[in-house]
Amino acid sequence: MLVCEKCGGTNIEEKRWVNPNTNEIGGTASDGEDDDNYCNDCQLHVGIIEEKNFKKSSEFPEFLEKIDWSLLREQKQTIIDIIDNGELNPRFFGHLNGMIELIDAIQDFATDVMGFTEKEVFDLDTEE
Ligand SMILES: [Zn+2]
Repeated sequence: MLVCEKCGGTNIEEKRWVNPNTNEIGGTASDGEDDDNYCNDCQLHVGIIEEKNFKKSSEFPEFLEKIDWSLLREQKQTIIDIIDNGELNPRFFGHLNGMIELIDAIQDFATDVMGFTEKEVFDLDTEE
């Protein structure tokens, strides 16, 4: 389903070719410009996007949307390795543990609130 990129609604229209004899609706006459689309709810020319992209791209800060979950997992593992391997100054230990807790919180937020799957965020596949 395609939706308005501003409100997520489906009450949208796009320019199409119409056969003047039969009124048959042909292919899109849009070249992808917002000007070629209209949202009847926003009463604006808007971009049209896939609904699944709207849910993930609208209500959360951009930096959360742009997290590379795979890279974050590796970074988290690196911190865990440093904690496990080294004889750390207690102050460093506390700070690194704090970073792990922060990453945990971000990962939990991504799955519980933002709608990412555990597979995407934790690389856990519950079906296996
Ligand atoms: Zn709209």
